[in-house]
Amino acid sequence: MNIQIHREELLKQIGYKEPPQPRLLEMVDEVLGLLEELIEPKQAFKEIEDQKDLPPFLIGAVLKYTGAATLGPKFENKVKDLFDEGKPAEAYILDTAGSIAITKTGNLLWDEIRQDAAAKGFKKGLRRTPGCRGIEIETQQWIFDRLADPELGITLTESCMMVPRKSLSFLARFGGKLKRTLSCRGCPQYSDCSLRG
Ligand code: SF4
Repeated sequence: MNIQIHREELLKQIGYKEPPQPRLLEMVDEVLGLLEELIEPKQAFKEIEDQKDLPPFLIGAVLKYTGAATLGPKFENKVKDLFDEGKPAEAYILDTAGSIAITKTGNLLWDEIRQDAAAKGFKKGLRRTPGCRGIEIETQQWIFDRLADPELGITLTESCMMVPRKSLSFLARFGGKLKRTLSCRGCPQYSDCSLRG
């Protein structure tokens, strides 16, 4: 999987509006140079055929999936090492690059799911992650129980946070009608959200 991050998108994400200082540009370029060897993206998805015990978001869908992706542990360890070495700026920039990379990995996963759905005759789908409106964070456990893919290397903490941190999971649905209470309207993240469709 080839995840490319451009200097401009990283600068934008760290909130830099002025022409960047040479030292900042140097750090950004160093971080981007590190990324290729630090990220080991993995992803998996599974069609859900059960009709029982479904999270509310999947109820009524004709075609249903769970999916998850991660950048792997190497990336995570490097961010921690940079903090421990007293390099918080580099650690922050690397962490931000990781956020961009996991979003792109998630988009590739979503493309794969949509291709699978298209082959089954479904064009338009929706995806949501635990923490979205109407989707309890505890749904993470349901997702990973269904995926049952130890190769991914994602584990959950007691509070259902994913480890490594730069991981994501989602539910996807095609066909059927979504309940209004599960729509994105009113979500505080609405304007910046890359998940809603
Ligand atoms: S706007 Fe985005 S974060 Fe909010 S509920 Fe919709 S998909 Fe989830």
